[in-house]
Amino acid sequence: MNTFYIILFVIIGLVFGSFYNVVGIRLCKGESLVFPGSHCTNCNHRLAFYELVPVFSYIFLKGRCKSCKHKISIMYPLVELFTGILFGISFYKYGFSLELILSLLLCSLFMIIVITDLNYYIIPDSIIVFFGFLIFIYNIVSKGFLAACTYAVYGLIMFLLMYLLMLFGNFVFKKESLGGGDIKLMGILGMINKPLISVLGLSIGSFVALPCSLFFLLKNKDKIIPFGPFIVFGFIIVMFLGIDTKSLISFLVNN
Ligand SMILES: [Zn+2]
Repeated sequence: MNTFYIILFVIIGLVFGSFYNVVGIRLCKGESLVFPGSHCTNCNHRLAFYELVPVFSYIFLKGRCKSCKHKISIMYPLVELFTGILFGISFYKYGFSLELILSLLLCSLFMIIVITDLNYYIIPDSIIVFFGFLIFIYNIVSKGFLAACTYAVYGLIMFLLMYLLMLFGNFVFKKESLGGGDIKLMGILGMINKPLISVLGLSIGSFVALPCSLFFLLKNKDKIIPFGPFIVFGFIIVMFLGIDTKSLISFLVNN
């Protein structure tokens, strides 16, 4: 029965991933999320329902628009696939629980930011506000109102810490080091954990970002490294590993 639900969540993830592609691209372009329906960005060919099936339609169409044969970015099916995998892992890890909701929220935020930050180097404010609001509501439901306010302060602390890191980075590198979007993102992610755990999530993200930045520096001329996806990734890892302040401190003390 568990396998059935895992597969179900993978399928739900594929569909949501397809939606996140639309959300990410259209938010950055300032287009409506609803109208017009899904279309080829090159020839405006309106997609039929069978061209909207996540991942599979990309394979059947051999990665090209049915109408104008324009190449479709591999990013679309990859985002769908990863959303499916992350949703599946989320259910495997948490089953039907409150944590599952937080996990699905984080995975969704991660995928949307991957799209906006990789393609346009931005994290739209609307995404920050939307997910920040949902995380706050989650905190009220799972921890109570007072604790939710405490965690909102934790978010503020992480926001300020990130802001200081930016000032420091700007001073050392003599150019813009961290984007405003990264700082705001840290503010809402900071509401999930106690500050020490958030710092761990940030560290894991930075650690993974390091080798990847070399790739970005070689590949893109702008020399901009999208940091947002790495930050969220670090937080997802911390969540999946179930690390809390107590276990982190005892690990640090004993090693
Ligand atoms: Zn087309």
